[in-house]
Amino acid sequence: MTGGDAAAHDVAIVGGGPAALALASACAERALRAVVVAPRESDRWGATYGTWVDDLDVRSDAAALRSCLATVWPVVRLVGAREHRLRRPYARFDNEALSAHLWPHGSARIEGTVTGVRRAGDGRIVELAGGGEVAARLVVDATGTSSVLVGARRAPGVQVALGRFVPSTGTVEDGSFTLMDWSDRGWDAPPTFLYSMDLGGGRCLVEETSLVGPPVDEGVLCDRLCARHGWASLPEGEVERVSIEMGGALPARSRLVAAFGAAAGYVHPVTGYSVAASLRAAPRVASAIATELASGRSGDDLVAETWRAVWPRPLLVTRALHDYGLAALLRLDLRGIQRFFDAFVSLPTESWARYLRIDAPPARIAATMTRFFAALPASTKVRIASTPPWAAARMRRR
Ligand SMILES: Cc1cc2nc3c(=O)[nH]c(=O)nc-3n(C[C@H](O)[C@H](O)[C@H](O)COP(=O)(O)OP(=O)(O)OC[C@H]3O[C@@H](n4cnc5c(N)ncnc54)[C@H](O)[C@@H]3O)c2cc1C
Repeated sequence: MTGGDAAAHDVAIVGGGPAALALASACAERALRAVVVAPRESDRWGATYGTWVDDLDVRSDAAALRSCLATVWPVVRLVGAREHRLRRPYARFDNEALSAHLWPHGSARIEGTVTGVRRAGDGRIVELAGGGEVAARLVVDATGTSSVLVGARRAPGVQVALGRFVPSTGTVEDGSFTLMDWSDRGWDAPPTFLYSMDLGGGRCLVEETSLVGPPVDEGVLCDRLCARHGWASLPEGEVERVSIEMGGALPARSRLVAAFGAAAGYVHPVTGYSVAASLRAAPRVASAIATELASGRSGDDLVAETWRAVWPRPLLVTRALHDYGLAALLRLDLRGIQRFFDAFVSLPTESWARYLRIDAPPARIAATMTRFFAALPASTKVRIASTPPWAAARMRRR
């Protein structure tokens, strides 16, 4: 399969996940000739994707995106040393609906596994397993954290979870969503929390999760999930396994290709979330690509400008602040984590909501962190204050 000469497509987006489709549809809306290059299996997004509903509000299609939500929970439960009921709606995407909504009208799709990219004059040729080629003026890698073109990075921590879809009766409170339950069960380190959602229709998802750190053994997660629910062993049912690389260096800015989504390091260093961030960033990045192409920019310069739109300078500062947050969190034991989240969600909702966005202005993040620090109990303050500022920088070098 070949895409023709180097001008056949303006942008070739490699990958078929939420980030790739969000960018492709934003490019198509700007009349760019976009092509999505991904294997057939990309069509099925197996993960349970959640988002804060207001994180979609900045999109011009926010109302349509809301119709792609499978379940909305108006109240979110979080348990630290005490229980909180957060009045900030959270939702689970209907993956099929989201993918159908994002699928770019008028864009091409080429099925295949990408093995490499090479220069062809001012353009690029995407190489496919089996010998096919796709020509484009710009190539964007959206192949997730294990990025095939810009290269995977070693992260200082990983979030792992083991989840089970089971009948909801007797397992979760009716209609509830628990973002984190850190209640003390007397378990040894590492601390883990319960993430659970009533999916409706008599089903729920319960997940034992480690926030971030060295990977926790699946046997430990399984034992804890069973102990919480009084199960002798894990019941039959569909399983969800989560493994998300958290924090660490952003990808080196390749001159050959740009990147977007998890491949570009859009995963929030403290939460592991990236879907809403990619949805919000797609229009900004597509606009920059359209402007650069219209001005005649091409080749390495076009790639460099695209990287600048993917990670504008202020957001690099925001990222450094989030990395510091991750370094601080990694120093806390269960008691410290409980106090951390109690204080965090006791801030005004808009403050903590902002901290959870990778694209919040750095000055606002710094203001939230200052306010948060002041609200912490003295013992946690000491622990966090002893996180040297260079800890985040050291983590980024790993
Ligand atoms: C189980 C699980 C649950 C998660 N839950 C949430 C959540 O609730 N909220 C949230 O915001 N984030 C969540 N995340 C984290 C993160 O947002 C997801 O990993 C998300 O899928 C990242 O989107 P992406 O499009 O950047 O990359 P991916 O979804 O990883 O997509 C990568 C795409 O690239 C394709 N690809 C790979 N190699 C090639 C190749 N060689 N050639 C062509 N295509 C290729 C893949 O087939 C895939 O389509 C979760 C992650 C996991 C694993």
